[in-house]
Amino acid sequence: DASGAPARRVLLKLSGEAFGGGSVGLDATVVRRIAAEVGEAVRGGVQVAIVVGGGNFFRGAELSQAGMDRARADYMGMLGTVMNCLALQDFLEQAGVTTRVQTAIAMGQVAEPYIPLRAIRHLEKGRVVIFGAGAGLPYFSTDTVSVQRALETHCEQVLMGKNGVDGVYDADPRKVPDARKLEHVTYTEALVKNLGVMDATALSMCRDNDVRMRVFGMEEKGNVTRVLRGEPLGTLVTA
Ligand code: UDP
Repeated sequence: DASGAPARRVLLKLSGEAFGGGSVGLDATVVRRIAAEVGEAVRGGVQVAIVVGGGNFFRGAELSQAGMDRARADYMGMLGTVMNCLALQDFLEQAGVTTRVQTAIAMGQVAEPYIPLRAIRHLEKGRVVIFGAGAGLPYFSTDTVSVQRALETHCEQVLMGKNGVDGVYDADPRKVPDARKLEHVTYTEALVKNLGVMDATALSMCRDNDVRMRVFGMEEKGNVTRVLRGEPLGTLVTA
């Protein structure tokens, strides 16, 4: 930018649950609002890479409980994330933000394949890059993929958008009424105390690679823009 400082580049993880507005499928009102908020930050010069979950369509673990083969169910989960990516891309483009989707499972008609150097080029040009289909691997989560993509595309921070909670608490706020929200927590604490921030694979990957993360609630209007700009919302998580 004009100050000569390098642009802020971040990885935003959006929960699939939020995209569904509480049910299966897509809530266009929610996706449009998120796109507008991302667009505002991008116009302010922030480079934004996004990973979208798929919980509003399928979760592999749940389908497996219902009797499906786990790996095949996980592929269904990954395909669900791609639908969210396309919806977000559409609303971003409507908001005037050039957007590329890159998927870990090849599907040339709808998205580019995942090519890290190309993703970095897009980000440098001010395009939003949305990573779809998770890691392309069963038994992984989109949280873990967020961390991996952030590391590979040199994002300075992972911004973990949550639905239903606005940070990390010392106990589950949906069950313990006097649970306290934490300003800061380490990955080790989150792992040892089982704080439900992310799955253990994602947490240990963050710890081993010294990732900076902020966990925030994405429901409140304006929060996505604020966190993208660097406001200290929610909980800071560090190694
Ligand atoms: N998934 C997978 N490998 C990945 C990413 C996702 O198998 O690398 C599958 C998994 O079944 C998961 C589903 O995709 O349940 C949806 O992703 P996730 O549950 O992480 O979405 P979120 O909870 O963030 O909406």
